[in-house]
Amino acid sequence: QQFAMALALYLLWGSLAWLSAMAGQISFADPGTLVLLGGVATTNALFFGIARSRKAPALSADGLAAAQGTLGLGWAAAFLVFSTGGNQLALGMFICATLFGLFQLPQRGFLHLALAGVAAYAGATAIRYGLNRGAWQPELLNVATFIGVTGWLLVFARYLEKLRRRLQDRNRELRQHIKKVVRIAERDQLTKSYNRHAIMDTLTREKGRADRTGTPVSVCILDLDHFKNLNDEHGHLVGDRVLKQFSKRARAELRGMDAIQPSDHRRSLGRFGGEEFIAILPGTTLGSAGICAERIRGAIANEAFDGLYRVTVSIGVAEYNRGETVHEWLARADEALYEAKAEGRNRVALSGDVQELDAEIRELRPSQG
Ligand code: GH3
Ligand code: MG
Ligand code: MG
Repeated sequence: QQFAMALALYLLWGSLAWLSAMAGQISFADPGTLVLLGGVATTNALFFGIARSRKAPALSADGLAAAQGTLGLGWAAAFLVFSTGGNQLALGMFICATLFGLFQLPQRGFLHLALAGVAAYAGATAIRYGLNRGAWQPELLNVATFIGVTGWLLVFARYLEKLRRRLQDRNRELRQHIKKVVRIAERDQLTKSYNRHAIMDTLTREKGRADRTGTPVSVCILDLDHFKNLNDEHGHLVGDRVLKQFSKRARAELRGMDAIQPSDHRRSLGRFGGEEFIAILPGTTLGSAGICAERIRGAIANEAFDGLYRVTVSIGVAEYNRGETVHEWLARADEALYEAKAEGRNRVALSGDVQELDAEIRELRPSQG
């Protein structure tokens, strides 16, 4: 982009030079014009090489822009020194080179470039006057014009810098807000675990991943046992508190599982509705998911909530079968849950058979002997 901007600058110079030649101000055989043409061609070839080279240039973007701007000023000064006419063209060239810096450089860099421009213009004008030729008043007027324009550009650069800062601040604020909104949109208000919407999104995503890569993924449906009784006996507020603590404990178990058996994606818990939760276990086979469910079941059953309320949970587990829909997958987990309830609650039931890990799971399931 910087290279394109610099090229645009030189094209502008070319047009100005052509106009000056048409008006009889300069000639293309003039030594100043030749120096200018040679310089511009070399500069463009150099920066085109830098822009195209695969290796990152040693210069930063700002350094590159500063180098380009300085070279532009240098060629304008050289033109002024070597040419016989064309002092108006030189003024136009100095202004264009400075404008390039205004849009490509930060405020400080631009200040340096502008000061260098004024010094180069004044210096080149003095040399030109010392070398020869003509009246000094129009030359001085040109330098004064350039100083005036540059001064105004410096004020404008301050304004630009302020705008740039404000834009950066706004962007940062916006990113924070979006993060917050996304968090609110995907969480359940009571338990702070994922909500149904987020769960369905994750399930769809994980199914897609499993279809593509063939990695296993399992889902657990967790339903608190006789939760209606707890509400009836102790009231809804107690029920709400238990739901909160339940999700906290279950999440802690899932995190523990992540530490023992890491997978690419984190295991996550969501509230599917009421007293029903869903755990998504990416990278986890049915056997490992069964172990995980068993750990959660134990963590809930072994310790009363608030030290007072004993609650148990039944869990249905299903590993994704390639090709089935998310709905079918969930329905199998739900069937397993139904089985766990029917067998007396406070237990884990798997959809399908586990081979290699069967023994390990039975060991972890003292309630079933
Ligand atoms: P089961 O063992 O068969 O699952 O029995 P259950 O009583 O848990 O099942 P049921 O579906 O009959 O009742 C679920 C109860 O969960 C009903 C409702 O009072 C309670 N519940 C659902 N959502 C909330 C909630 O947000 N807060 C509270 N406190 N209770 C809730
Ligand atoms: Mg229930
Ligand atoms: Mg229920």
